Amino acid sequence: MPEGDSVYRATARLHHALAGHKLLRSDFRVPQLATTDLKDYTIDAVRPRGKHLLMRLVPPAGSDFQPVTLHSHLLMEGRWDVYSPAERWKRPAHTARVVLYTEYATAVGFDIAQVDLIPTDQEQDLVDHLGPDLLGADWDSKQARKNLLADPERSIGDALLDQRLLAGIGNVYRCEVLFLARTHPLTPVGRVKNLARIVELSHRLLQVNKDRGKRVTTGDPHSREPLWVYGRAAKPCLRCGTKIQLFKLAAQNTGLERDCYYCPACQEMKE
Ligand SMILES: [Zn+2]
Repeated sequence: MPEGDSVYRATARLHHALAGHKLLRSDFRVPQLATTDLKDYTIDAVRPRGKHLLMRLVPPAGSDFQPVTLHSHLLMEGRWDVYSPAERWKRPAHTARVVLYTEYATAVGFDIAQVDLIPTDQEQDLVDHLGPDLLGADWDSKQARKNLLADPERSIGDALLDQRLLAGIGNVYRCEVLFLARTHPLTPVGRVKNLARIVELSHRLLQVNKDRGKRVTTGDPHSREPLWVYGRAAKPCLRCGTKIQLFKLAAQNTGLERDCYYCPACQEMKE
């Protein structure tokens, strides 16, 4: 599942393969962009913002067209792959939503739920609702804490996933950070004693993992157990041996229910 760190990596991969190159052809397989043709546009840069991918393209010199940004959001299943021109795609072609061809690389966006093309000067409107970006140059931990505390009754497990408060945490990090901070996911934000540490841990874990292919929170990338609790329901806690538990936690802003893993001994609910 894409979280801030995997979006960051996908973005870096796309930027490396495409930036500075001209599109030979574009193929949009989403209804709203079916007639769009970005042939001869040059990819200027590909940048992450939280879990959003922003690909900036400039029109050919001398044309009347404006720079545009191809915005995509990977949601649950989406991914961008980069192939050499003759390489066989690793996913079924019918799941491709966007295909961009340069002389040296083909970028394919598979199962991407959200794709829009906007004028680059309106990019800000698109990401304005997002809280401080954990992987952004303008990361602001104080603002993130303030945003989280805006609704003190909301559970910390729910609030951490709300991208309007801080951007980049997905379900894996939500569970791992709360384990590391010994905080029960259902603790109301206003009663979390170590909120600053939770915010700092989130920032540090995403930073540490952003450039490596594997998501590790236990500290050892070669360990057979890279994660403390996520995906480990009914297995013994790596710290205390108690069985890890799993429940569904519904998001206040979206109503979506997501798996929440925790250790009932290490993350006891404190009054
Ligand atoms: Zn434990």
